Amino acid sequence: MARLQEHEGKALFKIAKMPIPQGAVAKTPVEARQIAEKIGKPVVIKVQIWTGGRGKAGGVKFADTPEEAEKIAATLLGATIKGYLVETVLVEEKLDIAKEYYAGIIVNAQADARCPVVMFSTEGGMDIERVAAETPDKVITEPVDPAAGLRPFQAMRIAYGVGLEGPQVRQMGDIALKLYRLFIEKDCSHVEINPLVKTGDGKLLALDAKINLDDNALFRHKDLAALKDGSQEDPLEVEASRYNLNYIKLKGNVGCMVNGAGLAMATMDLIKHIGAEPANFLDVGGGATSEMITQGLKILVSDPDVRVVLINIFGGILRCDTLARGVTEAVKQLSITLPVVVRLEGTNVELGRRILADSGLNFSYATTMGEAAGQVRALLRRA
Ligand code: GDP
Ligand code: MN
Repeated sequence: MARLQEHEGKALFKIAKMPIPQGAVAKTPVEARQIAEKIGKPVVIKVQIWTGGRGKAGGVKFADTPEEAEKIAATLLGATIKGYLVETVLVEEKLDIAKEYYAGIIVNAQADARCPVVMFSTEGGMDIERVAAETPDKVITEPVDPAAGLRPFQAMRIAYGVGLEGPQVRQMGDIALKLYRLFIEKDCSHVEINPLVKTGDGKLLALDAKINLDDNALFRHKDLAALKDGSQEDPLEVEASRYNLNYIKLKGNVGCMVNGAGLAMATMDLIKHIGAEPANFLDVGGGATSEMITQGLKILVSDPDVRVVLINIFGGILRCDTLARGVTEAVKQLSITLPVVVRLEGTNVELGRRILADSGLNFSYATTMGEAAGQVRALLRRA
């Protein structure tokens, strides 16, 4: 799921002829000043990172003069906000906001739905999940028949639903239709405008832009695929992707190496079942080589959150002896002091076990997942 930064999303809005504030991106404080000069009125300066919630994190600031814009840009550029290094800021005209709305499109994958759903709300600027949970009547939801697209009557229902009147009804409906068209054309998995604002003089504009793209369709959008997705900026995730490892950092302390997404899920469940939390999701895949195993294990043990490592492998295409060689190689290269539980089953399991046993490594071995879980639990208590 490739994520776009706000200014990249707004560039798509612009192409789709959706209304956005006047502005441009700056990589230096001087550029920020020049943009503010060109705008010729108070501006807002926003850090460009791959996540929302920037306002609360100090990443959205206002400047009355170009000089002030330069100073603020100097404090933001190079800063780390929400874990991201700020390399770009967006400098935009500061709008006089009369009302904030929310607009978004998701895909409802439930068996009885399986369609895009357009959602608008009068509660813009808020966490929409909370609005939907606490005051569902404040969210207007329009499921879309993918064959027909968002129909004009649905767009009107949205516009009236958020309480608009007169020419703004048509404007809001137009934004909904264009947003939906963009969602389909660019193969998005999620779009969000939070907030979509009404200004003091009655104009509607997209003040923010959050777009996620469907990775499986990226090949159809070479221009978008070329954009760097720093949402994966976790250094371990970047390292893992270099070796074709499917690695996602999580919040717990049990490092897991598994093969196959199904076994990965079952292993996560197992860890949760014993009252622990996985530190990551590391799927070395079906055709992993010894080198990939070595790199995967390196990544696991360099995560400071990990207290216990669980290697849970079902040897199919990946044979157990390949796994065992990779693990022993990794241990030779690193000095692993963490406790490691290995559960092996499947093709060449005997050979795999023998390689591990002969390596003189101080691992715990398990033959079943239940046994492995018991060992992990015991080791966590000690750790
Ligand atoms: P986010 O915090 O990452 O979602 O960043 P947003 O772009 O949504 O900005 C956060 C908040 O800053 C918005 O909800 C607005 O309340 C405020 N804000 C941003 N731009 C402007 C502006 O031009 N004028 C005013 N008055 N407020 C703004
Ligand atoms: Mn926002």
